[in-house]
Amino acid sequence: MNERILIVEDELPLAQAIAYALKQEGFQVRIATDGQEGLRLALTEKPDLVILDLMLPKLDGWEVCRTLRAKSKVPILILTARGEEHDKVLGLELGADDYVVKPFSMRELIARVRAFLRRAKMMAAASEELEILRSGNLTIYIAEHRVELNGEEIPMAPREFALLKTLVLNKGRVMSRDQLLEIVWGQKEFIDPHTVDVHVHWLREKIEPDPKNPKRIVTVRGVGYRFVE
Ligand code: CA
Repeated sequence: MNERILIVEDELPLAQAIAYALKQEGFQVRIATDGQEGLRLALTEKPDLVILDLMLPKLDGWEVCRTLRAKSKVPILILTARGEEHDKVLGLELGADDYVVKPFSMRELIARVRAFLRRAKMMAAASEELEILRSGNLTIYIAEHRVELNGEEIPMAPREFALLKTLVLNKGRVMSRDQLLEIVWGQKEFIDPHTVDVHVHWLREKIEPDPKNPKRIVTVRGVGYRFVE
């Protein structure tokens, strides 16, 4: 996969030198020579990384950074002139992820770009892990309140979804009816504990190959339920 990098830099020889060095490394590169064009390309072409100069015509780098950060998670690497300490801090406060001080060597820049993309990929994978639970052929999209079995969406009522999510998050652990009532229903007084059993029954109908002989949501007699796989 060739990662795409957008260079926003008005000094064309410098932009071209960076582009050349990055292309040699196998990256796909676009150049924008003013802030407005840079912002437009960043939003429409969705690059994997933006290399952003601060002193730019039409729209300066701070403005580009601020606007881009409000709309996108793309990593931003700021190019700043030596001695512009204030700029560095400001760039980072505006949501830039890192900066490189001019003049820099192409080797240094490429090393930074690589480190950057690696980190962005790891963070994306980590946040996906938090938002998506997988267990065998079952996938739970937490933020979207969606469940798929073998890639097909299964309709779930909100309580069923919350119960399934709780069981899967505690995979292998026995959850008592009281615990489940507290977590899923928010209280255990005034609710018939058999409510849990009824919801488990409904869930089994949806996710067990043989609901009468459950293998995923297993009953632990006298205690509660355990999600197995
Ligand atoms: Ca400039």
